[in-house]
Amino acid sequence: MQGNGSSTLNVAIIGAGPAGYYTAEALTTADECVHVDIIDRLPTPFGLIRAGVAPDHQSIKNVSRRYEATNCRSNVRFVGNLSLGRDITLAELGTLYDAVVLATGAAKDRPLGIEGEDLPGVIGSGPFVGWYNSHPDYKDLNPDLQVASVAVIGNGNVAVDVARVLAKTAEEMAGSDLASHAARPIHGSAIRDIHILGRRGPLEASFTPKELGELNILDNCVALVDPAQLPDESLDETLSGAAKKNMAILRAMAKNKPGDKPVRLHLMFYVRPMAVLGEERVCGLRLEKTRVEDGACVGTGETEVLPVGLVVPCIGYRTSPIADVPYNQRYGCFENEGGKIRDGLYCVGWAKRGPSGTIGTNKPDGSEVADRILAEIRPKGTKGRAGLEEIVAERGLHIVTFQDWKKIEAAEVAAASGPAPRQKFADVAEMVRLAES
Ligand code: NAP
Repeated sequence: MQGNGSSTLNVAIIGAGPAGYYTAEALTTADECVHVDIIDRLPTPFGLIRAGVAPDHQSIKNVSRRYEATNCRSNVRFVGNLSLGRDITLAELGTLYDAVVLATGAAKDRPLGIEGEDLPGVIGSGPFVGWYNSHPDYKDLNPDLQVASVAVIGNGNVAVDVARVLAKTAEEMAGSDLASHAARPIHGSAIRDIHILGRRGPLEASFTPKELGELNILDNCVALVDPAQLPDESLDETLSGAAKKNMAILRAMAKNKPGDKPVRLHLMFYVRPMAVLGEERVCGLRLEKTRVEDGACVGTGETEVLPVGLVVPCIGYRTSPIADVPYNQRYGCFENEGGKIRDGLYCVGWAKRGPSGTIGTNKPDGSEVADRILAEIRPKGTKGRAGLEEIVAERGLHIVTFQDWKKIEAAEVAAASGPAPRQKFADVAEMVRLAES
């Protein structure tokens, strides 16, 4: 089926990350009469693959080739540099398309909810990871890394990513696409002690063995674990899967010595942050020792102060609310039932289920929502992309197409030095100029 005839189902997906692309793939492979526009406020596609996955985890980023293949289909179009709310409203999209899918991810940090968390020197993982990954919103973050000691709060893979990127040497990062504005301060930092703080124990941690294991093979940094915080070795036999592998790695770390390497990475369990201390900026964290009862973190009342000059909470994310879209405060995502928010409006990925799972988790998630759209929505003769183009022209907007993005990408690859795969641009105006050149 061609064009915008009455049998074309026009779908707008907001957000060009993994969830958006898997949904587009499922929709357009199932039915060629579906036309999908993947709209993103940035001029670059691939969302978290570009701005969330760690710069030294290039093999994970290879999945973008699959999204690129989706974008090469004639019934899929990337519309970059078009912002919902700023350039176009949800109501307008609702009249242009038969269905709108929110694949907007979870870009806001979950708050710690403790005194002092707004002090300079406390930087949530959203901005911090965005900064070292060249996200345009955070290119000017400029965190002060001339501090001796850092606290990274949380026991998930994001905490491990942040600690590892801070600890790796320039040589170890040579094959990465670490932002150049971040490489200089990170590799010239004064950091000597990095603390990863878990409010529960090693068995409750959500980091995965591959990521944890990478912390024990760093050139310049030794991972340290207090053996007294590990369960009795007799328990290891009863463990399986990730918990068993994590425990073996933690036991190996427990044998390391603080003097083994110049920088120390302390994995501290059973501590929860009670307050961020400091006047003008952070100078410490008050921690309460905890124990785990029936899987839950319980305070003991015993506190200690950890002197640190930088705090990076990596404690999960929340979806940014959108006007007139019901929001689930508890899970920090849109209120939905199996991906459906209301007639004609759907959500996928972290916007649907909250910030959990791997990139691959978004594939079945996207298929489920695509199946639902195909079963529930019939073409209504909407204008789809032709209508969007009219609005873009009327408003003088500078959208970026997939072909434009390929120009940006080629320039990034050309700007890379040594084994780096690309030198990412972080300035939207510069990228739009390149796209239009
Ligand atoms: P996560 O895995 O949910 O971990 C969040 C951590 O923060 C947990 O240890 C949690 O402790 C802790 N936490 C929450 N609230 C806290 C508080 N108020 N005080 C202290 N600690 C608190 O989330 P994430 O690390 O942000 O990762 C998000 C998702 O992306 C995960 O599914 C993750 O696997 C994925 N990811 C994967 C990779 C990879 O595969 N390489 C890399 C990065 C991210 P409790 O457990 O006690 O709640």
